[in-house]
Amino acid sequence: MSFNPDTIRNIVVLTGAGISAESGIGTFRDKGGLWEKHRIEDVATPEAFAKDPDLVFRFYDQRRANIQAAQPNPAHWALAALDAHWPGMLTIVTQNVDDLHERAGARRLIHMHGEHLSAWCRACDARTRWHDPLAHRPPCPSCGQSALRPDIVWFGEIPYRMDEIDLALVDADLFVSIGTSGAVYPAAGYVQTARHYGAWTLELNLEPSQGSILFHETRLGKATDLVPDFVRELLGEEVLD
Ligand code: NAD
Repeated sequence: MSFNPDTIRNIVVLTGAGISAESGIGTFRDKGGLWEKHRIEDVATPEAFAKDPDLVFRFYDQRRANIQAAQPNPAHWALAALDAHWPGMLTIVTQNVDDLHERAGARRLIHMHGEHLSAWCRACDARTRWHDPLAHRPPCPSCGQSALRPDIVWFGEIPYRMDEIDLALVDADLFVSIGTSGAVYPAAGYVQTARHYGAWTLELNLEPSQGSILFHETRLGKATDLVPDFVRELLGEEVLD
Protein backbone atom coordinates (compact mmCIF):
# COMPACT_ATOMS: atom_id res chain seq x y z
CA MET A 1 0.00 0.00 0.00
CA SER A 2 1.19 3.51 -0.75
CA PHE A 3 -0.03 7.11 -0.82
CA ASN A 4 -2.42 8.50 -3.38
CA PRO A 5 -0.72 11.48 -5.11
CA ASP A 6 -4.11 13.10 -5.71
CA THR A 7 -4.67 13.52 -1.97
CA ILE A 8 -1.28 15.15 -1.27
CA ARG A 9 -0.81 18.89 -1.00
CA ASN A 10 1.79 19.59 1.71
CA ILE A 11 5.09 17.72 1.61
CA VAL A 12 8.08 17.60 3.95
CA VAL A 13 11.24 15.92 2.65
CA LEU A 14 14.04 15.08 5.09
CA THR A 15 17.43 14.26 3.56
CA GLY A 16 20.61 12.84 5.07
CA ALA A 17 24.11 11.88 4.01
CA GLY A 18 22.82 8.98 1.86
CA ILE A 19 21.44 11.33 -0.82
CA SER A 20 24.95 12.72 -1.39
CA ALA A 21 26.77 9.37 -1.16
CA GLU A 22 26.59 8.77 -4.91
CA SER A 23 28.11 12.23 -5.44
CA GLY A 24 31.20 10.93 -3.66
CA ILE A 25 30.62 12.62 -0.30
CA GLY A 26 31.21 10.16 2.52
CA THR A 27 28.29 9.26 4.78
CA PHE A 28 28.32 9.43 8.49
CA ARG A 29 27.93 5.98 9.98
CA ASP A 30 28.28 3.58 7.07
CA LYS A 31 31.38 1.39 6.85
CA GLY A 32 34.29 3.55 5.71
CA GLY A 33 32.25 6.65 6.63
CA LEU A 34 33.76 9.76 8.08
CA TRP A 35 33.40 8.80 11.68
CA GLU A 36 35.50 5.67 11.34
CA LYS A 37 38.49 7.96 10.77
CA HIS A 38 37.62 10.55 13.42
CA ARG A 39 35.85 10.10 16.72
CA ILE A 40 32.80 12.40 16.94
CA GLU A 41 34.01 13.86 20.17
CA ASP A 42 37.36 14.78 18.56
CA VAL A 43 35.93 16.95 15.81
CA ALA A 44 32.21 17.68 16.08
CA THR A 45 31.56 19.17 19.49
CA PRO A 46 32.13 22.64 20.99
CA GLU A 47 34.43 20.97 23.54
CA ALA A 48 36.59 19.52 20.76
CA PHE A 49 36.90 22.95 19.16
CA ALA A 50 37.94 24.50 22.47
CA LYS A 51 40.49 21.75 23.11
CA ASP A 52 42.10 21.35 19.67
CA PRO A 53 40.89 24.01 17.21
CA ASP A 54 43.63 23.16 14.68
CA LEU A 55 42.37 19.58 14.32
CA VAL A 56 38.76 20.73 13.98
CA PHE A 57 39.63 23.42 11.41
CA ARG A 58 41.70 20.93 9.37
CA PHE A 59 38.85 18.39 9.40
CA TYR A 60 36.30 20.93 8.15
CA ASP A 61 38.72 22.57 5.69
CA GLN A 62 39.21 19.19 4.05
CA ARG A 63 35.49 18.50 3.90
CA ARG A 64 34.79 21.99 2.51
CA ALA A 65 37.24 21.27 -0.31
CA ASN A 66 35.68 17.83 -0.95
CA ILE A 67 32.15 19.11 -1.32
CA GLN A 68 33.23 21.83 -3.74
CA ALA A 69 34.72 19.13 -5.97
CA ALA A 70 31.48 17.06 -5.87
CA GLN A 71 28.48 17.42 -8.18
CA PRO A 72 24.74 16.99 -7.55
CA ASN A 73 23.34 13.61 -8.63
CA PRO A 74 19.95 12.59 -10.13
CA ALA A 75 18.37 12.47 -6.65
CA HIS A 76 19.26 16.14 -6.02
CA TRP A 77 18.05 17.06 -9.52
CA ALA A 78 14.75 15.24 -8.98
CA LEU A 79 14.04 17.08 -5.72
CA ALA A 80 14.89 20.37 -7.41
CA ALA A 81 12.31 19.52 -10.11
CA LEU A 82 9.77 18.76 -7.37
CA ASP A 83 10.55 22.15 -5.84
CA ALA A 84 10.13 23.91 -9.19
CA HIS A 85 6.83 22.23 -10.10
CA TRP A 86 5.01 21.25 -6.91
CA PRO A 87 2.05 23.64 -6.46
CA GLY A 88 1.48 22.89 -2.77
CA MET A 89 3.66 23.45 0.25
CA LEU A 90 7.09 21.83 0.09
CA THR A 91 9.82 21.98 2.72
CA ILE A 92 13.10 20.20 2.05
CA VAL A 93 14.85 19.81 5.39
CA THR A 94 18.42 18.62 5.01
CA GLN A 95 20.79 17.38 7.67
CA ASN A 96 23.51 17.69 5.07
CA VAL A 97 26.01 20.49 5.27
CA ASP A 98 26.94 20.23 1.58
CA ASP A 99 25.35 22.55 -0.99
CA LEU A 100 24.28 19.94 -3.55
CA HIS A 101 20.52 20.57 -3.14
CA GLU A 102 20.86 24.25 -3.95
CA ARG A 103 23.39 23.64 -6.74
CA ALA A 104 20.78 21.35 -8.33
CA GLY A 105 18.30 24.23 -8.05
CA ALA A 106 16.27 23.53 -4.89
CA ARG A 107 15.03 26.70 -3.18
CA ARG A 108 12.51 25.65 -0.50
CA LEU A 109 15.36 24.30 1.62
CA ILE A 110 16.32 24.36 5.30
CA HIS A 111 19.87 23.45 6.36
CA MET A 112 19.09 22.36 9.91
CA HIS A 113 22.71 21.37 10.69
CA GLY A 114 24.38 24.40 9.10
CA GLU A 115 26.49 24.70 5.96
CA HIS A 116 30.08 24.02 5.02
CA LEU A 117 30.18 27.04 2.77
CA SER A 118 29.39 29.45 5.59
CA ALA A 119 31.61 30.86 8.31
CA TRP A 120 30.21 32.18 11.59
CA CYS A 121 32.00 34.90 13.52
CA ARG A 122 32.00 34.29 17.26
CA ALA A 123 32.88 37.96 17.85
CA CYS A 124 30.19 39.81 15.87
CA ASP A 125 27.74 36.94 15.02
CA ALA A 126 27.94 37.67 11.26
CA ARG A 127 27.66 34.79 8.79
CA THR A 128 29.70 34.98 5.57
CA ARG A 129 29.71 32.77 2.44
CA TRP A 130 33.02 30.94 2.74
CA HIS A 131 34.89 28.73 0.25
CA ASP A 132 38.48 28.79 1.53
CA PRO A 133 40.29 27.24 4.50
CA LEU A 134 39.74 28.60 8.01
CA ALA A 135 42.72 26.94 9.72
CA HIS A 136 45.00 29.98 9.30
CA ARG A 137 42.42 32.11 11.20
CA PRO A 138 41.46 34.65 8.50
CA PRO A 139 39.77 37.84 9.74
CA CYS A 140 35.98 38.14 9.72
CA PRO A 141 34.97 40.33 6.72
CA SER A 142 32.44 42.13 8.96
CA CYS A 143 34.44 42.98 12.10
CA GLY A 144 38.05 42.11 11.26
CA GLN A 145 38.55 39.80 14.25
CA SER A 146 40.03 36.31 13.80
CA ALA A 147 37.03 34.63 15.37
CA LEU A 148 35.48 32.60 12.52
CA ARG A 149 34.31 29.02 13.03
CA PRO A 150 32.58 26.55 10.69
CA ASP A 151 28.84 27.33 10.56
CA ILE A 152 28.06 23.73 11.46
CA VAL A 153 25.70 22.61 14.23
CA TRP A 154 27.89 20.44 16.43
CA PHE A 155 26.67 17.70 18.79
CA GLY A 156 25.25 19.44 21.85
CA GLU A 157 24.19 22.55 19.86
CA ILE A 158 20.67 23.45 18.77
CA PRO A 159 19.73 22.83 15.12
CA TYR A 160 18.56 25.77 13.02
CA ARG A 161 14.99 26.81 12.15
CA MET A 162 13.30 24.18 14.34
CA ASP A 163 10.06 26.19 14.69
CA GLU A 164 9.60 26.36 10.92
CA ILE A 165 10.28 22.64 10.60
CA ASP A 166 7.76 21.77 13.32
CA LEU A 167 5.05 23.86 11.66
CA ALA A 168 5.69 22.18 8.30
CA LEU A 169 5.51 18.71 9.91
CA VAL A 170 2.17 19.48 11.54
CA ASP A 171 0.67 20.48 8.17
CA ALA A 172 2.28 17.71 6.11
CA ASP A 173 0.21 15.21 4.13
CA LEU A 174 3.35 13.35 3.10
CA PHE A 175 6.65 13.00 4.94
CA VAL A 176 9.56 11.46 3.04
CA SER A 177 12.87 10.55 4.63
CA ILE A 178 15.76 9.99 2.20
CA GLY A 179 19.21 8.55 2.94
CA THR A 180 19.33 9.02 6.68
CA SER A 181 20.11 6.39 9.31
CA GLY A 182 17.64 7.83 11.83
CA ALA A 183 20.29 8.01 14.52
CA VAL A 184 20.54 11.76 15.11
CA TYR A 185 17.77 13.63 16.95
CA PRO A 186 15.69 15.74 16.57
CA ALA A 187 15.55 14.78 12.85
CA ALA A 188 15.13 11.09 13.72
CA GLY A 189 11.86 11.96 15.51
CA TYR A 190 10.25 13.87 12.62
CA VAL A 191 8.58 10.71 11.29
CA GLN A 192 6.66 10.35 14.54
CA THR A 193 5.57 13.99 14.57
CA ALA A 194 4.43 13.92 10.94
CA ARG A 195 2.61 10.62 11.42
CA HIS A 196 0.94 11.82 14.60
CA TYR A 197 -0.51 14.78 12.68
CA GLY A 198 -1.80 12.60 9.87
CA ALA A 199 0.93 12.44 7.20
CA TRP A 200 1.71 9.36 5.13
CA THR A 201 5.31 8.52 6.05
CA LEU A 202 7.69 7.07 3.47
CA GLU A 203 11.32 6.06 3.81
CA LEU A 204 13.71 5.87 0.83
CA ASN A 205 17.01 4.35 1.91
CA LEU A 206 19.68 1.85 0.94
CA GLU A 207 18.84 -0.28 3.98
CA PRO A 208 16.18 -0.04 6.71
CA SER A 209 17.07 2.81 9.06
CA GLN A 210 17.01 2.55 12.85
CA GLY A 211 13.46 3.93 12.87
CA SER A 212 12.22 2.01 9.86
CA ILE A 213 9.24 0.46 11.64
CA LEU A 214 7.90 3.94 12.37
CA PHE A 215 7.16 4.53 8.66
CA HIS A 216 4.01 3.48 6.80
CA GLU A 217 6.19 2.46 3.87
CA THR A 218 9.86 1.75 3.18
CA ARG A 219 11.44 1.51 -0.28
CA LEU A 220 15.00 0.18 -0.38
CA GLY A 221 17.56 1.07 -3.05
CA LYS A 222 19.88 3.79 -4.22
CA ALA A 223 18.76 7.38 -3.89
CA THR A 224 19.57 8.01 -7.56
CA ASP A 225 16.94 5.38 -8.52
CA LEU A 226 14.34 5.82 -5.79
CA VAL A 227 14.10 9.62 -5.67
CA PRO A 228 13.52 10.23 -9.41
CA ASP A 229 10.86 7.46 -9.38
CA PHE A 230 9.17 9.05 -6.36
CA VAL A 231 9.15 12.49 -8.01
CA ARG A 232 7.69 11.03 -11.23
CA GLU A 233 4.93 9.50 -9.13
CA LEU A 234 4.02 12.97 -7.84
CA LEU A 235 4.57 15.09 -10.93
CA GLY A 236 4.03 12.70 -13.82
CA GLU A 237 6.41 10.85 -16.11
CA GLU A 238 7.40 13.69 -18.41
CA VAL A 239 8.76 16.15 -15.81
CA LEU A 240 12.23 14.60 -15.43
CA ASP A 241 12.78 13.79 -19.11
P1 NAD B 1 24.24 8.49 8.14
O1 NAD B 1 25.58 8.25 7.51
O2 NAD B 1 24.07 8.21 9.58
O3 NAD B 1 23.20 7.62 7.33
C1 NAD B 1 23.26 7.55 5.94
C2 NAD B 1 22.14 6.64 5.48
O4 NAD B 1 22.12 6.72 4.07
C3 NAD B 1 22.32 5.17 5.88
O5 NAD B 1 21.10 4.70 6.44
C4 NAD B 1 22.61 4.48 4.56
O6 NAD B 1 22.06 3.18 4.49
C5 NAD B 1 21.97 5.40 3.57
N1 NAD B 1 22.63 5.40 2.26
C6 NAD B 1 23.94 5.25 1.96
N2 NAD B 1 24.14 5.34 0.65
C7 NAD B 1 22.92 5.54 0.08
C8 NAD B 1 22.45 5.69 -1.25
N3 NAD B 1 23.29 5.66 -2.29
N4 NAD B 1 21.13 5.88 -1.46
C9 NAD B 1 20.26 5.91 -0.41
N5 NAD B 1 20.64 5.77 0.86
C10 NAD B 1 21.95 5.59 1.12
O7 NAD B 1 23.83 9.99 7.80
P2 NAD B 1 22.72 10.93 8.43
O8 NAD B 1 21.56 10.14 8.88
O9 NAD B 1 22.52 12.06 7.48
O10 NAD B 1 23.48 11.44 9.73
C11 NAD B 1 23.25 12.64 10.15
C12 NAD B 1 24.52 13.51 10.18
O11 NAD B 1 25.48 13.28 9.16
C13 NAD B 1 24.12 14.92 9.96
O12 NAD B 1 24.44 15.65 11.09
C14 NAD B 1 24.94 15.44 8.78
O13 NAD B 1 25.32 16.77 9.01
C15 NAD B 1 26.10 14.53 8.75
N6 NAD B 1 26.74 14.33 7.45
C16 NAD B 1 26.49 15.13 6.36
C17 NAD B 1 27.11 14.87 5.13
C18 NAD B 1 26.83 15.78 3.96
O14 NAD B 1 26.60 16.96 4.13
N7 NAD B 1 26.81 15.24 2.73
C19 NAD B 1 27.96 13.78 5.01
C20 NAD B 1 28.21 12.97 6.16
C21 NAD B 1 27.58 13.27 7.37
